[in-house]
Amino acid sequence: MDISVVIPIYNEEGNIPLMYERMTKVLSQISSDYEIIFVNDYSKDSSLSMIKNLAKKDEHVKYLSFSRNFGHQVAVSAGLDFSKGDAVAIIDGDLQDPPELITDMYEKYKEGYKVVYAKRSSRKGVNVFKKMAYKLFYRILDILTDIKIPLDTGDFRLIDRVIIKHLQEMPERNKFIRGQIAWIGYKQTFVEYDRDARFMGETGYSFSKLMKLAIDGITGFSSKPLKIASNMGIIVSAFSFCIIVYALISQYVMHTPPIRGWASLIISVSFIGGVQLIAIGIIGEYISRINNDVRQRPLYIIEESSKKEEEDKLIKEN
Ligand code: UDP
Ligand code: MG
Repeated sequence: MDISVVIPIYNEEGNIPLMYERMTKVLSQISSDYEIIFVNDYSKDSSLSMIKNLAKKDEHVKYLSFSRNFGHQVAVSAGLDFSKGDAVAIIDGDLQDPPELITDMYEKYKEGYKVVYAKRSSRKGVNVFKKMAYKLFYRILDILTDIKIPLDTGDFRLIDRVIIKHLQEMPERNKFIRGQIAWIGYKQTFVEYDRDARFMGETGYSFSKLMKLAIDGITGFSSKPLKIASNMGIIVSAFSFCIIVYALISQYVMHTPPIRGWASLIISVSFIGGVQLIAIGIIGEYISRINNDVRQRPLYIIEESSKKEEEDKLIKEN
């Protein structure tokens, strides 16, 4: 198999037909030996039946379907595990990422790059607030982590099979795939593109899913937040020590007792309380991820797939 494409799908019924059409056109120009893998992440609409119909009609189309919503990163991981191509592209199912760019990516891949990621030079269909939040996140991530995760890139990229082999050696349950790929290294390059607005439907990334991805990215690739928490502790302790010295001097040396009243008391108690809770929260985020890994549960559960269907058919025939 020359090339596989992994497409995570969560309620994309309005996008699947055009996606299939454009993708087929692009891939058939590259090679006749390709596969399109749709990973259905428990869509609530008719996405699954559409994908199954495509798989019936076209042998290039394969599918996986999860037993519940496992999230975008897990859907991509499952697709990569399932893929057979020497080169594998990851692309969103909402046509925000143009399939035609894969042609350029494949050219770079042929030049010997193991990873060709797509860098967004602009984004359409995203409000100013969200755009700023994205920009800010990538910059914070850059400051906090020691590895260089490319700025303003998502998971839209083409990778060599060797990268997938290394990804499979990384067993963490809370995935941040673009970070993992940066961590792996090898010769990497990028192509630039303007990110379109979603063709149909609504985003499947709720605010809480986005926050989880952001924290997975930070905790997965940096211990600096823990350092920041302990530094916060040192600063607050030093500050309160100064206040103690001030209080003692004014009481016993100057004989003018420090300001009375509950305001100063309440402010300092709640300030220290806040700092403590933030520090505990940061530790908690790391511990919950350790916990996820210690449980050793499977990363995803596949309820249906084109592979299972083929196997069932074979059993019936024999
Ligand atoms: N997606 C998924 N599971 C989810 C949410 C999203 O597989 O729980 C898929 C979705 O179908 C799309 C890709 O992940 O192909 C990116 O999601 P989306 O376009 O909703 O996110 P946005 O582009 O708004 O950040
Ligand atoms: Mg999208």
